[in-house]
Amino acid sequence: MNYQVDENGFYGEFGGAFIPELLHHNCEELSAAFAQYYDTEEFQAEFQSLLRDYVGRPSPLYYAPKLSKKYNTTILLKREDLNHTGAHKVNNTIGQALLAKRMGKTKILAETGAGQHGVATATICALLGLECVVFMGEIDIARQAPNVERMKMLGATVVAATSGSKTLKDATNEAIRYWINHPDTYYLIGSVVGPHPYPALVAKFQSVISEEVKKQLMEKYGKENPDYVIACVGGGSNAAGAFYHFLDDEDVQLIAVEAAGLGVDSGETAATMQKGSEGIIHGSRTMLMQDDDGQIVEPYSISAGLDYPGVGPLHAHLFKTGRGTFLNATDEEALKAAFMLTKEEGIIPALESAHAIAALEKINFKPQDIVVLNVSGRGDKDMETYMKFSEKFS
Ligand SMILES: *Cc1c(COP(=O)(O)O)cnc(C)c1O
Repeated sequence: MNYQVDENGFYGEFGGAFIPELLHHNCEELSAAFAQYYDTEEFQAEFQSLLRDYVGRPSPLYYAPKLSKKYNTTILLKREDLNHTGAHKVNNTIGQALLAKRMGKTKILAETGAGQHGVATATICALLGLECVVFMGEIDIARQAPNVERMKMLGATVVAATSGSKTLKDATNEAIRYWINHPDTYYLIGSVVGPHPYPALVAKFQSVISEEVKKQLMEKYGKENPDYVIACVGGGSNAAGAFYHFLDDEDVQLIAVEAAGLGVDSGETAATMQKGSEGIIHGSRTMLMQDDDGQIVEPYSISAGLDYPGVGPLHAHLFKTGRGTFLNATDEEALKAAFMLTKEEGIIPALESAHAIAALEKINFKPQDIVVLNVSGRGDKDMETYMKFSEKFS
């Protein structure tokens, strides 16, 4: 079984580039640039030095003693929450911005839901002196004021998407429309979604996570492979990065955790694998939540980063082939896990990451297992939500 992307951008039957004719040139130009620059010494030197000195990599692989005792196994936390800007997203925005620079692009276009990807993009644009335009649903702009302020302070222009439900999917539609009309801009996608080559490219930039895990495990435990890797999945980029170098090592169990929202069968969920079916979303053939007419069903999760109706094509392939195990955690389970981690280890995780932590309850580990759990981000942005539930869970 092959889990890497093929030359046409497919993972098994998933992926590809189902896009308007007008955008084919842009995607081909990007594929060509990635092939030309990524493996060069010059590109790698700049990328690696920014990951080290700007982001603060390698992120620690922290042995969590109390968590390990609680679940009677060895639990190691990959601390993406310690990255500059507070999550894994910056690994990808740096990689793509460096590519954009080499392609001669001076303007970066992005869309954002909760604003996390927008902030990571605006950050790197400030650093590299690139113009930055971020599309964001009008409702999300109102809901996520602090991130809007951050983007503006970083010099980005935030454009309100006022069509449809005025949230992420409308921001995406308007960003794509803008891209069609301004093909000189670089469209910076924030997860392993969208048309080829984006899913493959984002996975590659995030693969630094599992590359470091391998080295860190070797140093600490004298072997490169853990028994489990656990990560939450929205679009799937932190999971893709955490899984990447273990995809072909079938002795490593890959556990992806989706957001069940109020419950898989509640109608208020983002558990794409459980409730979804095959179809096309944002230029890619994958699993998505849709009704009988192929209309996208609005997802729901307490965590904005997991509130996406689809999933990247790599994950659809891992699901279909059985290589990946897809679990889910409800809002309530995630909140409980966040308070538990905070109390036990003194780490306040992002609500998204808390879904991965909640999965620890759902797996029967052996005492000799080594479990790597990717803490995709920190919880500062979620304090308002946590405060609402502090009496219930602390
Ligand atoms: C955006 C985000 C996610 C979800 O995105 P993926 O592409 O699935 O990784 C998860 N965790 C955090 C902290 C995020 O900001």
